[in-house]
Amino acid sequence: MSLIVQKFGGTSVGTPERILSAARRAVAAKQAGHQVVMVCSARGKKTDELIDLANEITQNPQPREMDMLLSTGEQEAVALVAMAISTLGEQAISLTGEQIGIITDQTYTKARISQISTDRLKQELNAGRIVVACGFQGVSENGDITTLGRGGSDTTATALAAALDADECEIYTDVDGVYTTDPRIVPEARKVTRISYDEMLEMASLGAGVMHSRSIEFAKKFDVALRVRHALNENEGTLIAATGEELARSVTGMALVRDEVRVSLCDIPDRPGVMSLIFAKMAARKIPIDMVVQNVSANNKAEVSFTVPAGELAETLTAAQEAVGELGAGSVLSGTNLAKVSAVGLGMKSAPGVAARMFRKLADAGINIQMITTSDIKVSVLVDRNLCEQALRAVHQGFQLDSAKPAPELSVTKSKAAATARASEHEHLAEVVGRLSSMEDIVVSEVVLDDGQARITVHNVQDRPGISAELFEAVAEAAVSVDMIVQNVGRNSTTEVSFTVDAGDLDKGLAVVQKLQQRLPGSSVSHERDIALLTVSGIGLRTHTGVGERMFRALADAAINVKMVNTSEIRMSVVVARQQGAAALAALKKVFGLK
Ligand code: ADP
Ligand code: ASP
Ligand code: MG
Repeated sequence: MSLIVQKFGGTSVGTPERILSAARRAVAAKQAGHQVVMVCSARGKKTDELIDLANEITQNPQPREMDMLLSTGEQEAVALVAMAISTLGEQAISLTGEQIGIITDQTYTKARISQISTDRLKQELNAGRIVVACGFQGVSENGDITTLGRGGSDTTATALAAALDADECEIYTDVDGVYTTDPRIVPEARKVTRISYDEMLEMASLGAGVMHSRSIEFAKKFDVALRVRHALNENEGTLIAATGEELARSVTGMALVRDEVRVSLCDIPDRPGVMSLIFAKMAARKIPIDMVVQNVSANNKAEVSFTVPAGELAETLTAAQEAVGELGAGSVLSGTNLAKVSAVGLGMKSAPGVAARMFRKLADAGINIQMITTSDIKVSVLVDRNLCEQALRAVHQGFQLDSAKPAPELSVTKSKAAATARASEHEHLAEVVGRLSSMEDIVVSEVVLDDGQARITVHNVQDRPGISAELFEAVAEAAVSVDMIVQNVGRNSTTEVSFTVDAGDLDKGLAVVQKLQQRLPGSSVSHERDIALLTVSGIGLRTHTGVGERMFRALADAAINVKMVNTSEIRMSVVVARQQGAAALAALKKVFGLK
């Protein structure tokens, strides 16, 4: 018999009418011959209200009590939904996180699932009942209620679908599916028919709130096809699966994090182990850091900057101060009122000049870029929060994401090759997942060394709109393909931009940059001919704060200095000296247990 998981978000069970309407969907599926598991969120804005209530009592609620409180929202919803199903003549039973057998670790408010025991669930299903499960919650080994982090009901649904080997997992929400960007901010956003796990992972972790990013980790690891649909209509929605729309596009979608803060550790020593210490401090507090930028060091002093969600600022500053204390030198600075705008697309891998086009659109809109980081399928920029929606719209329009038929950019052969590569990556992943003991464990599937790279840096560039656009347009025009780009935080109205190119393209790249540099008063250019780029691939690498920690610890133990870093949900890359490339590869393979 087939089994369907249907998840209903807050608005979709917000009123008695909607509860009935959700119940009707489940009943229809049951009567069509399926076993049905419903997963419900708290009604409407219930979770926000409970948080506000706690904050009226104390600014510092204990995380354990917070989870006890927040879990009540979902309990209210499932009981009402089960009652609604009964009125429609079917049998239903509501179950808490503990009753559905979701065991988590003890990290209150952002717990991770370690195990699901589905005995009770199966028993109820086999007795002909519709199971109405509380989303967002679980129970720790010692019996305390835990929650999975905001938006976590998506993760409950996907995890149950994986554990029960469901035939379908439907996510019912208040929009028609996954859009090219948040349709509430950009009304011209277009619904996509199909999107790949990797793109959705990046989009969700970079701010697309439509799906909890950890739910996509589950979906990818256990091959659960997700369909995001509107709870109130019959439209087909969006399928999230191993492959996306095979359209000739370099950018699939865009995401925004409105409340981002930047933390910089300045004048710290430049030696192996520094990154490791910083990442360890953040990982100990489970702070997911993003947009990591390390400047190219002068007089043996380094500067590392990264962004974190605004809510994590206080914890991050404490951790950063600790790190500086242990390093014995340095100071901590932070910048607020910032937002992160990201463009995501698998097609970027084979379409040069995407970053340049994004920078141009921002420059034309008069928006200054305060930091840049890239990975092979995303470009993120940090901008003034007051300008973030304008930035999002400008880039969305610039890439014609609103139109169904984009101008062709990629050759068919390339996208076919990419599809084959993805298929084999998927097989490989399945093998790795087979060894997992804990459901939300980190999955690192591969480490790759590219020792044919070189770095170019432009120092002391004036910090104004348009600089990066000019630079990367000129580089793209010379057909030099750029791999990693990082732009550092501006200091004294100047900034520093570094990027890597194929070593064979270094002279061509340098010529372009030197020509441009003559028009940039006070700037200078440096380069490094012999670097190696190491890339660790997997799932959920950024949100599992421990990956960076293990990676940098392994490099530090091998006395390898890290020159550049970039992070994403599916890939983390570091640049090291070329002669240390092989040693770095061996160290990373060893730490992640790869042959
Ligand atoms: P639910 O309560 O059903 O889980 P959420 O509020 O968590 O609903 O997610 C749905 C909302 O996500 C939409 O109303 C929309 O504003 C927002 N959103 C952000 N990015 C996107 C996107 N790329 N596509 C669709 N919706 C998005
Ligand atoms: N109710 C929880 C929240 O608002 C979980 C969810 O809706 O997914 O974050
Ligand atoms: Mg949600």
